Amino acid sequence: MPEAASYRKVDLHTHSICSDGRLSPTELVDLAVEQGVSLFALTDHDTLDGLSEARQRAERQPLSFINGVELSTQWKGIPLHMVVLNFEPDNPALLSIVQSNQTIRLQRARRIADLLVKQGLPDLFDDAVALAGISQLGRPHFASLMVEKGIVKDANKAFDRYLGNKRLGQLRDVWPDLESVLTCLKDQNMALILAHPKRYPLTVTKLKYLLSDFKKWGGTAMEVASGNEKPDSVRLLERLSQEYALEASMGSDFHGPFGPWTQVGKFTQVNEAGLDLVHKHW
Ligand code: AMP
Ligand code: MN
Ligand code: MN
Ligand code: MN
Repeated sequence: MPEAASYRKVDLHTHSICSDGRLSPTELVDLAVEQGVSLFALTDHDTLDGLSEARQRAERQPLSFINGVELSTQWKGIPLHMVVLNFEPDNPALLSIVQSNQTIRLQRARRIADLLVKQGLPDLFDDAVALAGISQLGRPHFASLMVEKGIVKDANKAFDRYLGNKRLGQLRDVWPDLESVLTCLKDQNMALILAHPKRYPLTVTKLKYLLSDFKKWGGTAMEVASGNEKPDSVRLLERLSQEYALEASMGSDFHGPFGPWTQVGKFTQVNEAGLDLVHKHW
């Protein structure tokens, strides 16, 4: 066990109903407190909408709140996620990326619906827009509709059969390039974190090229543990964070009480000794 004095339960990667999570920002903060989390970030996909509600709730709770967002980007045509932490919500550079990604989400959803129609499914676009409502429209909304309409048994099947990156191969090059996003955000005192590095279709050799580019373009950190990552992967990522001098971040990637990322504050234990932790100043 870490020493009690230095030990804090942190969760720097979570989702609310403002993107594809199930809980409101208020419910999420309450759950984090219930789970003993004392340093917490909300990181919805491509939106800052939940931050003020979460912050207001956190102010009444024994929990420090950090502004966050998970941006969709791409590197060499591979979709990648980047968690950004510790910014002012009116940061113009960040707002412009978020707004542009929201436009891309809507256009991409139209293209996803068209691809599904070509595979014999009904046109799900209008239902997906309605289901998303004020939240950021994404593939999970299409997956829910497919389950609801009896097209697939569960969301996982929907990704396996229709929505996974391999299945949507035609939809490459939709997100902004990692280099342009990092160039736009670097040197502003934000943490620029490569999210869940083991969840991309990359060999370790390719992952190292990515980390080298990420660092070179201004990235500051990488997640070493996220959700249900296997301990072996976490050990590898701990080593890589040291090798590439990227700070270490960690979070549950909680979306709701379902799927593989099931609880706020829960992720594979990190061996913190020797790591440069992203949250050391917070
Ligand atoms: P999008 O933001 O539209 O690209 O959708 C990506 C989101 O889909 C991820 O953030 C996950 O929440 C979810 N997701 C990815 N893969 C799966 C899967 N196999 N089963 C269920 N949800 C998934
Ligand atoms: Mn998600
Ligand atoms: Mn992600
Ligand atoms: Mn996430």
